Amino acid sequence: HGEVDFKGDAQFAQHMKKSEAVSDFAKSKSLSEQRQYLPVFSVRDEFLKVVRENQVVVVVGETGSGKTTQLTQYLHEDGYTKNGIVGCTQPRRVAAMSVAKRVSEEMETELGDLVGYAIRFEDITGDNTVIKYMTEGVLLREITLEYPDLDKYRVIVMDEAHERSVNTDVLFGILKKVVARRRDFKLVVTSATLNAEKFSNFFGNVPIFHIPGRTFPVQIMYSKSPCEDYVEAAVKRAMTIHITSAPGDILIFMTGQEEIEATCFALSERMEQLVNSSTRKKVTNMLILPIYSQLPADLQAKIFQKAEDGSRKCIVATNIAETSLTVDGIYYVIDTGYVKMKVYNPRLGMDVLQVFPISQAAADQRAGRSGRTGPGTCYRLFTESAYRYEMLPQPVPEIQRSNIMNVILLLKSFKVDNLLDFEFMDPPPQENILNSMYQLWVLGALSNTGSLTRMGLKMIKFPIDPGLAKMLITGEEFGCVDEVLTIVSMLSVPSVFFRPRDRAEESAAAHEKFFVPHSDHLTLLDIYRQWEANEYRDDWWCSKHFLQVKCLRKASKVRSQLLDILKKLEIPLTSCGPKLHVVRKAICSSFFHNAARLKGGIGEYLNCRNGMPCHLHPTSAIYGKGYTPDYVVYHELILTNKEYMQCATSVEPQWLAEYGPMFYSIKDSDTSLLEHKKRHRDEKSAMEEEMENLREKQKQVEIG
Ligand code: ADP
Ligand code: MG
Repeated sequence: HGEVDFKGDAQFAQHMKKSEAVSDFAKSKSLSEQRQYLPVFSVRDEFLKVVRENQVVVVVGETGSGKTTQLTQYLHEDGYTKNGIVGCTQPRRVAAMSVAKRVSEEMETELGDLVGYAIRFEDITGDNTVIKYMTEGVLLREITLEYPDLDKYRVIVMDEAHERSVNTDVLFGILKKVVARRRDFKLVVTSATLNAEKFSNFFGNVPIFHIPGRTFPVQIMYSKSPCEDYVEAAVKRAMTIHITSAPGDILIFMTGQEEIEATCFALSERMEQLVNSSTRKKVTNMLILPIYSQLPADLQAKIFQKAEDGSRKCIVATNIAETSLTVDGIYYVIDTGYVKMKVYNPRLGMDVLQVFPISQAAADQRAGRSGRTGPGTCYRLFTESAYRYEMLPQPVPEIQRSNIMNVILLLKSFKVDNLLDFEFMDPPPQENILNSMYQLWVLGALSNTGSLTRMGLKMIKFPIDPGLAKMLITGEEFGCVDEVLTIVSMLSVPSVFFRPRDRAEESAAAHEKFFVPHSDHLTLLDIYRQWEANEYRDDWWCSKHFLQVKCLRKASKVRSQLLDILKKLEIPLTSCGPKLHVVRKAICSSFFHNAARLKGGIGEYLNCRNGMPCHLHPTSAIYGKGYTPDYVVYHELILTNKEYMQCATSVEPQWLAEYGPMFYSIKDSDTSLLEHKKRHRDEKSAMEEEMENLREKQKQVEIG
């Protein structure tokens, strides 16, 4: 009898497999139908013809027309992957991952097989991969460090080029050279907006290929007066739409994770109130979906899922939903009019993430997201006069407004000795170049004459910020590579601390158990070690201690990749054992430029170089713990309502003088601060002069 049953089970299993296959087929059929419905499909053959006849093509099309998901597949179908692969660059990590996943589904292949993606610290491609999505940063590193001619690529699609990230602009300059050298190489540049002419001119008046649009009119509603609290205003607007307006999903633009979380939280509260207060009428459900780059991938994928019958989706997004991700069914857009951008702040001498008003072009782009499935409405939480008279027509390219240390290092290794000769579409201001070069010089990556030092050459090998790379490399000198490796890995992933709003005190107490009194950096080390030693695979241990297990796992992945690079450079994995002050020295030797001196009061400090106030964060391991160090160095400064030092470590003033002699000397009193400032200025102008001389010399050589 048992046997029969067993057979039955087997038959059932077989049947299930079949029906699964059937439903898979149904799904793939509808996917291929979806593909044919996209606007780009109607011009598929013309597109392939233009590419065949030209080396470089600029493609313009509305967002959602199918550029990102289809063009690579068309190129594959047309045979470009017979010898070589099709690469497609994205300015954003999230887009690279989500699009690769989508295309692998459309092509009915496992992700990482025919279709894959590569982002920093994560390479999901294999020997079979013929379509590779990647961030611009990944391609840039491939070109400058490994394959200057991009031999394995037949075609590169530079997607979302209108975003104009620093990396886009550098790739433009480099790819232009590759195009000239390799006749068999094709470049497709896509753009959603009006930059097409400019791109075409840059590559020597190449053809511009238009994908016919299919959009509906969008009604724009402005605020009557400037809005004080845009989170609150957006929540109110969304609730009003939900209660009074026809079906259709809502898309809200916020600037970052915290605001998005606050908005989602407020929305779910209001929904709960609404459900509780309306006794007679049934309230339509609202599916509240956040999306931002640090959100785990499985949660990100949710925004594409269909809402159950009758419920309305409300997606709360960063700028990522402006052009890189397209969700169907959006009828209402709520636009705060702000975006978070990295901007060089001369007062602080560093890049800071700050909130700025968007440009007119960006506002129009955002509004357009509501008109893809039918006539839409865009609620702007700013006034019409702000739009007309305060917003810039176009955004300023990132390369003109931020620190370009990484790029300079890469270009130097690419033998672009004189950066002023590099062909930029919009050159960065000379001051920007000099500032970044100066910072690299301070870190010891550039010599007085502006060429790469041995330290600089090593730093380039690591796909991390120059300061962190330096910390790894100097770990060798201090005999604590193992320790700094862990710290650097932890600093390269999102925060491991889990701080739920409703359990703030409880989580703070749990975190406090890990605190190392002198140092947030060492606290990170301690957490990682405990996780690794005791409960490596145990999620329960993490939730007990309010730690994000995903981030710890990510840190461990990053760590092993950085370790591979250390091995290649033959840097041994030394450890300083219990003498942890050595690690603080190593941190000081690479972050002395971010030093602060105690001003008095709890956690109040002044930046040693420019006297700017900066504060320990109340969640810091050194905040108000009885022991208050006179000097600290910090990983970075975060601007919220105050300038907060993110991840700080106490240091001895002698160390600062020893490792940062260009800034500090031992009798660091207020009077000598002035002297230092002067010395700092003198050194900087001496370096600038040297570089100017060098340029002159180079010119003379060229002329002679
Ligand atoms: P474009 O690059 O021109 O903006 P895309 O190729 O990104 O257009 O998108 C084409 C269509 O594919 C969109 O309508 C979108 O709905 C769908 N799509 C894209 N990515 C995904 C995804 N990850 N999941 C589901 N649908 C997607
Ligand atoms: Mg796209």
